[in-house]
Amino acid sequence: MSDENLRLEVLFDEKQIDSRNRELARQIAQSMGKDILVVAILKGSFVFTADLIRALYHAGCRPRVDFMTLSSYGKGTKSSGKVKVLRDLSESVEGEKVLLVDDILESGRTMAFARDLLRSRGAEDVRICILLDKPGKRIVDVDADFTGFECPDKFVVGYGLDYAHYYRELPFIGHLVPED
Ligand code: 5GP
Ligand code: MG
Repeated sequence: MSDENLRLEVLFDEKQIDSRNRELARQIAQSMGKDILVVAILKGSFVFTADLIRALYHAGCRPRVDFMTLSSYGKGTKSSGKVKVLRDLSESVEGEKVLLVDDILESGRTMAFARDLLRSRGAEDVRICILLDKPGKRIVDVDADFTGFECPDKFVVGYGLDYAHYYRELPFIGHLVPED
């Protein structure tokens, strides 16, 4: 990989992420109760979801977990704004209290699509939990019910987030900056 000219600046470290996850889990347990269906949007949210469900356990929840892979449609630099289901859930969401979990809320297209899809399939309630919010970049009207951190308008990696398939394993969230 050609990352010789990039260095990583830590934005949120392991301790910050861990204590924020515990706080989020308490809020979720308080407002949704213990019987929830966690729907993780892959790939970016897999690390966050893994930690969040264990924090939910400590907060008294007994969640079930399912996964859905979504991708923005279109090639090159311009997104057509369409979202595509690459891999669907394995169970029905009818009558479920769903907690949608994703890594970053940016334009809002991905989350609005997932929320509307699960509502149309008969979910009783659909709430959104997002690790990082970039509120300045919203195109579609959608807000998270639970937000980990507000993220500066920078390209971030780590804790499940990638750059060209790398960096997902970092235990912290960092910003890639050109070396000067
Ligand atoms: P949107 O809200 O625009 O539909 O989708 C946000 C998605 O764009 C995120 O789930 C993530 O996949 C990607 N994304 C946005 N900002 C960043 C970033 O700073 N770093 C990485 N790795 N992905 C990002
Ligand atoms: Mg994503």
